[in-house]
Amino acid sequence: PGRSGEALNVIVIGGGQAGLAAGYHLRRAGLDFSILDAQPGPGGAWLHGWDSLRLFSPARHSSLPGWPMPRYPHAGYPTADHVVDYLAAYEKRYELPVERSTRVRSVRRVDGGYDIDGRFADAVISTTGTWWRPFIPAAARGLPGRQLHTAHYRNPRQLAGQRVVVVGGGNSGAQIAADLAGHVDLTWTTRRPPRYLPDEIDGEALFDIATRRPGGVGALGDIVAVPPVREARDRGLLNPQRMNRHTLAGADTVIWCTGFRPALDHLAPLGLRDRDGQVRGEPRSHLLGYGDWTGPASATLVGVGPTARAAVRTIADALGVTARR
Ligand code: FAD
Repeated sequence: PGRSGEALNVIVIGGGQAGLAAGYHLRRAGLDFSILDAQPGPGGAWLHGWDSLRLFSPARHSSLPGWPMPRYPHAGYPTADHVVDYLAAYEKRYELPVERSTRVRSVRRVDGGYDIDGRFADAVISTTGTWWRPFIPAAARGLPGRQLHTAHYRNPRQLAGQRVVVVGGGNSGAQIAADLAGHVDLTWTTRRPPRYLPDEIDGEALFDIATRRPGGVGALGDIVAVPPVREARDRGLLNPQRMNRHTLAGADTVIWCTGFRPALDHLAPLGLRDRDGQVRGEPRSHLLGYGDWTGPASATLVGVGPTARAAVRTIADALGVTARR
């Protein structure tokens, strides 16, 4: 297949925080690029979380490259709205060319580059996140109650008067269980006893560990004891049970806080899976922000910058452009 029309150096697919961090470094490197984002406005997955969602890091440890996140003007850690405002302002500040309401369906290799739904670029960076592919295990099949996922949870009012089972011993499970405790008939089930990170580990220490310690934060525990979780735990409202079918079957609603998968359907034509089933980029097609497998802590605000920079350098080298170091 050949290419036609004007080709850009790079097309970035996804305009959440990872796409913007890529844009920042592409600008600095002097490459021409466009960012294509499926949503009508800025904010990525931060537009969709539950109402009480707070960052587990203070603003000063939640910054993208170049411009620190402004201080959160209220008590506690920043809300998702604060992040959305920051991302919107960041995009403006660096004049990042984001084309909205543009969902990429497929990326194909063509002579000397890539065809992205009929647009052409020498290289692609995919930053489509994971929120769009909630994972619910097979155990949910055939259960009589309503089966929700973290991605569908908003607030306790949505479930008033119900028997609710929250499944999952990670951060989402703990935070949603804490949010519901005292408001619904709650059971929190986990596969193994929940492992809280030591209370004194705040956002700063967390990201330090995530980026530097072998095994990352997971080596220390699974749950950041953010204030609402700590409070519910200390009041004895979080009493995890082992998951069993009987409990699940007795629920009006089960909320599966069982994680997300990378949203990579658009890359299927590239065949980036290796023999072990791992997805790997190539010098001119990069995956950014999906998890530690795409760079240490790259699925966090503060962690995505260094991986974005490395991806842009590799692309600049592959294209023979001297990127500013
Ligand atoms: P997203 O925010 O998902 O952005 C991807 C963008 O790509 C979206 O706008 C989407 O619409 C678009 N897109 C998807 N598919 C396509 C397509 N085919 N074509 C075009 N566009 C497409 N991180 C922290 O640093 N601190 C925290 O406190 C924190 N808390 C978190 C709490 C929760 C509940 C979750 C789930 C994550 C949290 N994270 C946190 C992790 C991470 O920062 C977020 O998940 C963040 O949204 C990831 O950004 P992203 O840019 O990689 O993906």
